[in-house]
Amino acid sequence: MAFLAGHCMCGAVAWTYSGQLTRNLVCHCADCQRATSAPFTAFLGMRPEHLTWTGDIVHYESSPNTFRGFCPSCGSRLYFRSDKWPTEIHVHAATMTDPDDYRPDAQVVMRSRAKWLDRLPSIPTHDGFQQKPSVHTPAETL
Ligand SMILES: [Zn+2]
Ligand SMILES: [Zn+2]
Repeated sequence: MAFLAGHCMCGAVAWTYSGQLTRNLVCHCADCQRATSAPFTAFLGMRPEHLTWTGDIVHYESSPNTFRGFCPSCGSRLYFRSDKWPTEIHVHAATMTDPDDYRPDAQVVMRSRAKWLDRLPSIPTHDGFQQKPSVHTPAETL
C-alpha cells in the first residue's frame, strides 16, 4: 500500500494515490520519447479506482485506444493509459511531489533506448547550468 501525490509544473493538475503499485518502470519506447520530448520516461503503474485527479486534463490519442494525458496550462505530461491494460494507468514518475522517492525496478523496450545514454558517464558534468557554451563543430559532438 502506497500513499503518493504529485502535480504538473504549474500546479493546475494534481493527483493522489492510495493503493498497490502495479509497476515501476522506465520506458525507452519511441512513442514515450516523442511524447515527452525526452530520451526516456519513468512510470508508476496505478489502479484507476484508487487514483484521484484535480484540475482539467487534456489527452492525446497516440495510437488507437491509447491516451496520453497532459495539463492544458503548462503542457506537463501526466499519464499513459491504454485499453490494452484497462486495470492500470501509468502516471509519470517525474510528476511526483518528491520524485526522489521513485524506485524503478525494470527498464523496458530496450531496443529503442537512446544510444547516447551510453556516453553519459564519460562526459563532463556541472552542478549548475554550464556557464559558457563550448564552441565545436557538429562532427566533434559525435
Ligand atoms: Zn500544469
Ligand atoms: Zn513507452
